[in-house]
Amino acid sequence: MAQILLRGGTVIDGSGAPPRAADVLLDGDLIVGVGESGAADATDAEVFDAAGLTVMPGLVDTHTHVTLGEPASNDELFFHRQPALAALVAGFNLGKVLRAGVTSIMDVDGLFNIGPALREAVAAGIVEGPNMKAGLYALMTAVGGTAGRMIPDEGTAGYAEVTRNRDEMVVATRRQIKEGADLVKIHVTGSLPTRRGELQVWTLDELKTVVDTAHDLQTPVVAHCRNASSTRDAARAGVDIIYHASYMDEEALEAVVESGAILGPVFTFLANLADFGPKAGATPDAQDVFRNEIESTGAMMRRAYDTGVTLICGSESGFVITPCGHWHAREMQLFVDVLGLTPLEAITCGTSNGAVAMGEGHLTGTIEVGKRADVLVIDGDPTRDITVLGDKSRFRRLFCRGREVDLNRPWPTRSPLPGERVTPWAETALTWELAYR
Ligand SMILES: [Zn+2]
Repeated sequence: MAQILLRGGTVIDGSGAPPRAADVLLDGDLIVGVGESGAADATDAEVFDAAGLTVMPGLVDTHTHVTLGEPASNDELFFHRQPALAALVAGFNLGKVLRAGVTSIMDVDGLFNIGPALREAVAAGIVEGPNMKAGLYALMTAVGGTAGRMIPDEGTAGYAEVTRNRDEMVVATRRQIKEGADLVKIHVTGSLPTRRGELQVWTLDELKTVVDTAHDLQTPVVAHCRNASSTRDAARAGVDIIYHASYMDEEALEAVVESGAILGPVFTFLANLADFGPKAGATPDAQDVFRNEIESTGAMMRRAYDTGVTLICGSESGFVITPCGHWHAREMQLFVDVLGLTPLEAITCGTSNGAVAMGEGHLTGTIEVGKRADVLVIDGDPTRDITVLGDKSRFRRLFCRGREVDLNRPWPTRSPLPGERVTPWAETALTWELAYR
């Protein structure tokens, strides 16, 4: 690949340093020069005039589910997916993620064994997509996840792998790592249709069993924790990344600070439902609940940030309310709106902090000599208006591992697949009165 000189842009390097005017020189898959005036010897380079534009690292989304097929319901996700089609759809959706300026993702859990397979396909150049770290099924006890009674008593279903006791936890963890998982995810809280909120459904000892087994195999553990006690116990067990950490209390925050766990609030899914749900025909029931969850979690998350806890951005992309390629930048906006971070601080969370959380801080996440050429050039100043990062019409150039992404192609669209969606017989009961009165 020839050299490309991005000349005269405003560089936001992702480290938290203030923006500065600089040239950036790309050579193959690496950044080889960052500096004032010409980035040294770039005589053969293709020169791109970036004056008035922002040059920054590609976005890092640390919480996606690209294999789920953007389901509108758990029924669909648990009963209407087949491995081969799901894998092809995942490849299609991954391309949309890249087009949204995202050059690295952590796909935390998903269907079948697609995540690691997709990662290998991307690395081999078979599928176009961002650099990936991938999990397999989320480990659950039989009370798990956000699917209530759909979680079986044993085996796998949807995104869940049920582990009934500590022996099964060890076996499942080792098997997932053997099958190529970069991380092991645990759903520490689960929901039941008869109860409000999510309950902690793993004991501290059970969590430690998975964490110790995974760490022995040099594999990090991430956890879904939507209450205070689960966040506390996940931190105490040595979980590396805690997602949601909803309703954190003093004890939970203390445990997080002490353990050095990274936090990813993943506000985007909740905020999308709360702010725009009705536009997508979502039921309005949960709007206030989710708004409250964001607000009460936000206050403690801000304290965690001030105490030095590393925060990362994740979008929960892969559901109907967070389709791939649309919402990857919104978490940064919510860090500004809810946590009161400056846009520059939020960008650090959404770039270099994410790369560190993926174990790739030495490879990507900043505009620095020697880092991978994961670079986004955008018409706008995200330090003034962070929302420009979600507006793909402003993207001017995008490089992932040095390969340019063609932004001029039309946005990928597709038709529905047979049997992909649950089709209700009707929206409402056809009573005699409805028919005749
Ligand atoms: Zn998730």
